[in-house]
Amino acid sequence: MTELALLGGKPALSQPLTAYPSIQDKEINAVMDVMKSGVLSGFFGSPGPKFMGGEQVQALEKEWSALYGAKRSISVNSATSGLHAAIGAIGISPGDEVIVPPVTMSATVIAPLLYGGIPVFADIDPDTFCLDPQKVREQITPKTRAIIVVNLFGNPAPLEELRQIADEHGLKLIEDNAQAPLGRLADRYCGLWGDIGIFSLNYHKHIHSGEGGICVTQDDNLADRMALIRNHGENVALDYGCDDLVNCFGLNLRMTELSAAVARTQLSDIEAHVQYRERIAKRLSAATRHLPGWTVPEEREDTRHNYYMWTVRYDESRTGVPRDVLSKALLAEGFENETGYIEPIYMLPLFQKRIAMGRDGFPFTLTDRQYTKGLCPVAERLYENEIIQFQPPNYSVSDEQIDDLIAAVLKVYDNLDQLKDVKLP
Ligand SMILES: *Cc1c(COP(=O)(O)O)cnc(C)c1O
Repeated sequence: MTELALLGGKPALSQPLTAYPSIQDKEINAVMDVMKSGVLSGFFGSPGPKFMGGEQVQALEKEWSALYGAKRSISVNSATSGLHAAIGAIGISPGDEVIVPPVTMSATVIAPLLYGGIPVFADIDPDTFCLDPQKVREQITPKTRAIIVVNLFGNPAPLEELRQIADEHGLKLIEDNAQAPLGRLADRYCGLWGDIGIFSLNYHKHIHSGEGGICVTQDDNLADRMALIRNHGENVALDYGCDDLVNCFGLNLRMTELSAAVARTQLSDIEAHVQYRERIAKRLSAATRHLPGWTVPEEREDTRHNYYMWTVRYDESRTGVPRDVLSKALLAEGFENETGYIEPIYMLPLFQKRIAMGRDGFPFTLTDRQYTKGLCPVAERLYENEIIQFQPPNYSVSDEQIDDLIAAVLKVYDNLDQLKDVKLP
């Protein structure tokens, strides 16, 4: 009998996984060139040629637009900033409702609050982990102004249907595409189904510049408004011919020339960075998809899933072993994994105590919406009992190590009986 590592046996992986080496000489040289130029930021917050940023920033935006077929790309210092710029640009006003998914990085949901908007949660589809279009329809009211969809874990959301819902009801569709660069549905990249799509360049994403973000749009007016929000718009609105001043004031969301130089270098290798994660995920899926109670990520027809994360849905009723025990057993074998991803965002104290802007509960004072447990049962169930995930982004994994990761899962499944009586503290 093989003994599981959790119970003292030898782990399936002989060595811990190490970090993915994303920064190479190319990136270092690009940064050195900017350093030598002495111009670390090309922005100036007043009318004139420097309002739109320096050489590296503008080149990055051009290259980003060319790759994605976007009319305009507006760089910012994070995807969080990009979400703020997008929500501001579409004119969200106090009391407006914005439909959001409960399972995402919190920044998606917080962005509307910055402008007094009310986040309204619609449940997710357990197969895609993304917004369920039917649940979105159920939340639409006369106060709804926008939908923010997240292509979670790199899997394209049902973007065709959501685009249609938005058009039917005169809503803006914002795509938080932080996790799905080069993700694709039918003939269109993720990020381009929305009126605005937002990419992240933070350290954990497929390509990065430490921190950074890019907003893409086919709409010049939205692009111009985001540029105002990015760079002290109040000083520039007049010269810029902006006749709608709503939300176009007072932020600095600008990217440095250093970050832009790193991002340009990473962008030139984006296909390789994405394929790195796909290779690991596809092999893990192929070798483990037959296991009972172990549903590997779906890849729908005519989509590209870029596997920001490889997320399995686990059903303990098929094995008799609770998820958290199985996860611990995998960890002990050296299979780095996490459970649950993120607790539904409405469970955060901010929503439970209804305290966001100022001490009087604004903007929750403008809504009767409740944020009680049970609001999105699918999201809660996945978080509490089902999600197990592996994050290729964090690791450098050789082909042999993929074999070891697969061996770890198969070993745990071959020895489930050893886990039946394990109690976690
Ligand atoms: C990473 C991430 C963000 C935030 O990105 P930053 O660039 O760190 O601000 C927002 N939404 C999602 C879905 C993300 O994964």
